[in-house]
Amino acid sequence: MPAAILDGKALASSVRALVRDRVTKAGRPARLDAVLVGADPAAELYAQSQGRTCAEVGIEYRLHRLPAGSGFEEIAGRVLLLNEDDAVRAIMVHLPLPAGVDVERVQSLISPEKDVEGVNPANIGNVVYGRRSLVPCTARAVVELVESSGVKLAGAHCVVVGASNIVGKPVAVLLMRAEATVVSGNKHTRDMKALSRQADVLVVAAGVPHLVDADWIKPGAVVIDVGIHRTPGPGGTTVTSGDVDFASASAVAGFITPVPGGVGPMTVAMLLRNVADACLGR
Ligand code: NAD
Repeated sequence: MPAAILDGKALASSVRALVRDRVTKAGRPARLDAVLVGADPAAELYAQSQGRTCAEVGIEYRLHRLPAGSGFEEIAGRVLLLNEDDAVRAIMVHLPLPAGVDVERVQSLISPEKDVEGVNPANIGNVVYGRRSLVPCTARAVVELVESSGVKLAGAHCVVVGASNIVGKPVAVLLMRAEATVVSGNKHTRDMKALSRQADVLVVAAGVPHLVDADWIKPGAVVIDVGIHRTPGPGGTTVTSGDVDFASASAVAGFITPVPGGVGPMTVAMLLRNVADACLGR
């Protein structure tokens, strides 16, 4: 039987409806303050679409633009000003930053309780300790999608392919918090395929197109594909695909996320939920 699709678009739409409801009932404003440095076309497009998404759920969006040539001091200065402003409860910094600016140093300056992308290492640390904190949006999206399958995480054997600070590691930690047994793999892991084949839940965040096919998957497993790859398609179109070969994998998996329409829209929805948490409390 082909895998059931974990529909990230539909799930994201219900999360957005809940956020809209919370914002409407809160009786006080929710606002996201985003810093955008320079005029990178992809970041510009993302910022515009983020503004529209915020508006849809009643969150005000303020974009703080800094010139392309800004250095660490200017960017850090803006972040610190936002930290100090009591009217600002939710901050994010768009990437990329200009060459030479240390992204992690900037991210570590964002006040942890206003860090709605969960990129400050303090928030990752809080996730490890199980403290209340703003969880990195993609990791939160992955776990929500796994939970939407109905699979019980406690005792499940989970394999996470990829161990970046922003995706793979926080996903592994969240799964550990749910009392799953977790294997974290990276590009040096020996026989990743054999490890993956043991997984009840397989999360793939390696950034390698079509790395995982049916041979990597235990029949009936939950497969979450975090990868995003855009390649030119026929007639000037763009094809979006993931780290998983969907056609072959979906013949073996029990549940699978598509790309597009899986983790991506849920990541955006989790950012909105983090903004609501930061502005309105949990
Ligand atoms: P990254 O390059 O920072 O990290 C990749 C990780 O995968 C590393 O730990 C590396 O060691 C590991 N890896 C690489 N090849 C491997 C292999 N063959 N076997 C096992 N491990 C391997 O990437 P990232 O920022 O974590 O992003 C991963 C993918 O997820 C990218 O395609 C990215 O575009 C996508 N992404 C999607 C979202 C979303 O919202 N859907 C968000 C962030 C990233």
